[in-house]
Formats: sequence, C-alpha cells, structure tokens
Amino acid sequence: MADEFDVVVIGAGPAGYVAAIRCAQLGMSTACIDDRTDKQGKPSPGGTCLNVGCIPSKALLDSAEHYHHLNHEFAAHGIRVTGASIDVATMMARKDKIVSTLTGGIDQLFKANKITYLHGRGRLLPGNEIEVSVGKDTRRVRAINVIIASGSMPIDISVAPLDHDLIIDSTGALELEEVPRRLGVIGAGVIGLEMGSVWRRLGAEVTLLEAMDDFLPAADPNIARDALKQFKAQGLNIKLGCTVTRSEISGRKVTVWYKDKKGEQQIEVDRLIVSVGRKPNTDDIADDVVGLAKNERGFIEIDDQWRTSVPNVYAVGDAVRGAMLAHKGSEEGVAVAEFISGNYAHVNYDVIPWVVYTLPEIAWAGKTEQQLKDEDIPYRTGAFPFAATGRARAMEQPVGQVRIIAHERSDKVLGVHIVGPYASELIAEAVVAMEMQATSEDIARIVHAHPTLSEAMHEAALAVDKRAIHKAN
Ligand code: FAD
Ligand code: NAD
Repeated sequence: MADEFDVVVIGAGPAGYVAAIRCAQLGMSTACIDDRTDKQGKPSPGGTCLNVGCIPSKALLDSAEHYHHLNHEFAAHGIRVTGASIDVATMMARKDKIVSTLTGGIDQLFKANKITYLHGRGRLLPGNEIEVSVGKDTRRVRAINVIIASGSMPIDISVAPLDHDLIIDSTGALELEEVPRRLGVIGAGVIGLEMGSVWRRLGAEVTLLEAMDDFLPAADPNIARDALKQFKAQGLNIKLGCTVTRSEISGRKVTVWYKDKKGEQQIEVDRLIVSVGRKPNTDDIADDVVGLAKNERGFIEIDDQWRTSVPNVYAVGDAVRGAMLAHKGSEEGVAVAEFISGNYAHVNYDVIPWVVYTLPEIAWAGKTEQQLKDEDIPYRTGAFPFAATGRARAMEQPVGQVRIIAHERSDKVLGVHIVGPYASELIAEAVVAMEMQATSEDIARIVHAHPTLSEAMHEAALAVDKRAIHKAN
C-alpha cells in the first residue's frame, strides 16, 4: 500500500520547497520529492537556485567585487594595497559553505513543518500515484494533489558540445579551480554577464559572443546602453550579432568560429561557458498515459490557477510559462498552496522584478517604453543620474540612472528601470509603488533620506513632471 499524502510536490527548488512549506502550514500532509545531491552524494534540497544558481553565483560575484574594488577603486580612497592576490580555492570553499548552510536550512524547515522529504526521481503515474526512484530502488506514494516544480536545465547547442572541463555550462562556471587567462562565453544574457563578470573581475580576458544585434533586449534600451558602456570599460569584450558555427578542443585550448557583420571570425580561449538559455526539466516527469499537456518547448501547460491538463495536478516555477526567476516560482508555490486549500490565490505577473547582478547592477519592474509604444499606451518618463547624488559620489560609484515611466494622463507608475549601485535593493521601492498603484507624484511626495541612493528614485519621480531639483529639466 503506497503512502498517502494530501499533497506531493515534485522538486525542492524555490518553487517546490516553498509550495511544500505553505501546504504544510495550511494543515495538509505534505511530501516533497527531489533528486538533487551535493558533491558528496548527500540529498541537497533547494533546487537550481540554492545549489548551482542564484546563491553560489552571488557568493562568487560578491567575492569578485571585493577584489575588483581592491584593485580598481581603493586607491581613489587613499587606500594603498600591494601584492593583492586571489585564492580561488578559498573563494570556492566560502561559496560551498554558504550553499551547504542554506540547503541544510531547507532540510530543517522540512523537519520543522513535518514535511516528508523523499530523495529520488519522481514520475507521475495514473491515479495521482508517483513513483520515486533512486537507482534501481523504487517506491510509490499517492497524493490527492500533486504539484510539479521540476525546474529547468541549461540548453545545449551542437556547435559547442559540453565536455564539462573546457566547455562548460553555468554549473561548471561556478566550479573553476583557477582564473582562466582567456574565457569565452556564448550568450550575453543574464548568466553570461554574471559569470563573465566574476571571472573578468578576477583578471580573465573575457569575450562574450551574443547572437542578437541588441544588447539585453528585455531591458529598457537606455539602461542597456548605459550598462553596455560600463561593461566595455571594465574590459568585458561583448560582441553582438554573432552566429557561432563550430568549436574545437585541441590540447587545453578551445577555438570558437563565428560569423558576424565582418564575416568569418575565430577566437581561442582557455575555457568556454555556454549560457544560451534554459529549458524546462519535464522530459520524463509523467508517464505518457497520464496525458500531461506540454507546449512545443516542453513547458507544462497550465491555466490561471496553475492547473495542468490532469485533474488535481498543478505546476509552478521554471517548468511553466513566464520568467525563469526564483521569486516568481516561490510566489507561484505559495499561491498554488492557497488555491488547493480553497483560499484566494493570485500572483501579479505584471510586477515581477528582474535583477542582473553585474557592476553596476541592472534592475527593472513593469513595462519598458517599447512595450508601451507597442500597446499604444501614452506615457511620460523621468530620469535621474546617480552621478548627481551625494551618496553615489561618496561611494565612488557615480554611474547609471533611474528611469521612471508613468501613464501620461493618470500618472500611474508603469515601469521603473535602474542601472547603478544597489539597483537590486532600490527596485523594491518601485515594486511596492507599482503594487500599490502609486503615481509618480506619490513617489515624488515621499520623504527620502539624505544622502541615500534612493534619492535618485525620488528625483526621477520629480523629473517625470520636469521638476527634478538636482539636474536641469
Ligand atoms: P529548480 O530550482 O530548478 O528546482 C527544481 C528541482 O527539482 C531540482 O532540484 C531538480 O533536480 C528537481 N527535479 C527535477 N525533476 C525531478 C524529478 N522528476 N524528480 C525529483 N526531482 C526533480 N533566479 C533569480 O531569481 N535570481 C538569481 O539571481 C538567479 N541566478 C541564477 C544563476 C544561475 C547560474 C542559474 C542557473 C539560475 C539563476 N536563477 C536566478 C534562476 C533560478 O535558479 C530559477 O528560476 C529557479 O531555481 C527555479 O526554481 P524552480 O523551483 O522552478 O526549479
Ligand atoms: P538568457 O535568456 O538570459 O540569455 C541567453 C542569451 O544567449 C540571449 O541573449 C540569447 O540571445 C543568446 N543566445 C542564444 N543562443 C545563442 C547562440 N547560439 N549563440 C550566441 N548567443 C545565443 O539565458 P541565460 O543567461 O542562459 O540564463 C537562463 C535564465 O536563468 C535567465 O533567463 C533567467 O531567467 C535565469 N537567471 C536569472 C538570473 C538573475 O535573476 N540574476 C541570473 C542567472 C540566470
């Protein structure tokens, strides 16, 4: 007789583990199945995000940022350092410790919430039975409700097949044992920029080959242009409009051939990261007879309440449509738990913040000007440069800007776009404002502490009405 639960969640990433915790809080007997292990082979909940995504990448970005400041900015403060060097093994051990502390924390949260954590690969069978397998060992559990939160994995491309040594994906890029002299990156998206930044700050010559002609097309073009200028100044060699045609490993070198406007080109690098997007982890998530509908790209089809084509089976996170972001998945996890228990459930997909943890950081929420033009919505904009704030000057980081887009007539804030120091933290004010249906006038009337970076948000709001104080309007 299979063990029975009110809810079984497949996947313990930020979508799945959060869904499991909320289900348990709401009084449902809950199990969470996950197949991931750490380097020692121990079950390791937390999904991509905690194990090989958000957390380890930010740990390395922070280490590399300290090194960058030490080498490039401390002198301006009068701090002289000679003989600075980076110990990659210590940097990696710090990152691993952060990961194991946080994944251990999820284990504790499962225990505290009396969630049954089942290590193994889950596969949905008819009648809401789930087969859980570890190697040849299998067992079955049954659930009234199933939540699939199986996440995503890197897309691979035939022109640069991974050997997991010299040609690597984002997981490999988090594990390098030394700073490569020359690093190639295919794809100048979020991962390419973040991982390229880590190794550039530590001294690698970094070349990014991006297929699109536009840089970061999802971002506001003014912000993307500003960011590109900063990245180029840091020595990130970003080549746009490149079609990679093939790659070859010879000895300890990788040669990459690509075509751009100038014709056939090639680069030789010591390591090559392939970061061209991610695909849903749904290939073998359900037996065919279950009839779980997926789209042509493998995303599980869901309706507005995260219901799949199979009764009482739900899906959330990277495995379904929408932004592949940890916080989007977690909010869906909470919402689906509420829905299953009969409560009101809603996620506001219009206001999901995006952050790219480069230097300067890039963050946005809401619409871009292009989207508003396409939707024929009239708007006004206000922009304010960090260079005109005392705090950014004091921090020796007078780069970037805040741009606020508001409806031309109602003045409701429709989008906020930031490139600059701590954009990741500043965007929270914009998200609150947009959730509360604030106008740019509302932000303009809020007292912002001086001197802070948030004054750039205040001044950008004033600039929508052409009355910024610390710049000409
Ligand atoms: P996942 O985190 O992928 O978790 C799914 C889990 O389910 C995995 O552990 C997987 O092994 C397991 N699983 C899959 N199939 C089965 C099965 N059949 N049986 C059992 N277990 C299964 N997002 C951000 O918001 N901010 C960031 O800064 C950020 N940085 C990132 C950096 C990198 C390098 C990468 C790769 C991603 C980053 N992301 C970031 C994206 C973020 O990691 C994902 O959006 C998020 O992890 C998705 O959560 P999820 O729970 O849907 O899936
Ligand atoms: P991405 O979609 O952000 O970027 C991939 C880039 O590769 C795109 O610019 C695309 O045009 C380019 N590309 C695709 N095929 C190519 C080819 N053959 N040659 C050259 N360029 C090519 O994807 P990613 O960087 O792999 O990251 C995957 C996802 O993970 C992100 O979209 C995001 O959802 C998530 N993520 C988020 C964060 C964050 O929130 N800070 C960080 C890392 C990853």
